[in-house]
Amino acid sequence: MRFPYACHPGHCAGVCFSILFFMRFFLFIVFFCTFAFAHKTDSLFVPPKPEKPLRYCEAAEKWIEYATHNSKLVEITDMEGLRMDLRYATFNNVTGHDMYCGIQRAFIHKDGLPKLKRALSIIAKELPGYSLVIFDAARPMYAQSVLKQSVVGTPYSHFVSSGKTGGLHNYGLALDLGLADSTGSLLDMGADFDSFERCAGIVGEADALKSGRLTQQQIDNRNLLRKIMKRAGWVMLPSEWWHFNAFTRAYTKEHYPLFPM
Ligand SMILES: [Zn+2]
Repeated sequence: MRFPYACHPGHCAGVCFSILFFMRFFLFIVFFCTFAFAHKTDSLFVPPKPEKPLRYCEAAEKWIEYATHNSKLVEITDMEGLRMDLRYATFNNVTGHDMYCGIQRAFIHKDGLPKLKRALSIIAKELPGYSLVIFDAARPMYAQSVLKQSVVGTPYSHFVSSGKTGGLHNYGLALDLGLADSTGSLLDMGADFDSFERCAGIVGEADALKSGRLTQQQIDNRNLLRKIMKRAGWVMLPSEWWHFNAFTRAYTKEHYPLFPM
């Protein structure tokens, strides 16, 4: 009996050889890309500073007006245990623009608020005098677009969510933050907020410790912040020590609307 797809042994050997050849070729490409990518992300990338730094005052004022009148958003600016250091309200951020016009006011979706309060109560009990330092919270879409523009066309474009579909900051359900000790000093995390270095996230820490780029103390400081946030119900991002989501990306996109501005 002849099987419908049976072939001559010599033919099979030819096919197998071709498959093996393409598999090897494919694996070579994968290894090459992995090495090339890892090499690039290990270097310090700083987006070029704009020739004319801008202040987005009209947009920022509209955003504050929107946020203060939106029943789903809660202002966290004066919350006990929190300190504002909104980097996008200064020129000292990756875009080089002051996107919030110097306005140090932050907001969060009300469904993320209990998790923030939980983190603060853990700190109050276990690390009295320590505080959370907010770099960014709910973010309007215009700011997301400016951020995205600063990396478009670079190998780091994928680090920043689209200015159209947004990231979890654009739902009010993500926080960028650091931890300050009882003297008010930010704990040293070994990489600045919004750094594009691979060692900025947990994915690059083991290598960075080996190479001496990070110290054990810097990694311990990150782990302290991570433990507090995790116990409070926040989800960390593997590539950024400062970023925490209230829910997963999939859950958020399914259950919450984006800000209409
Ligand atoms: Zn973030």
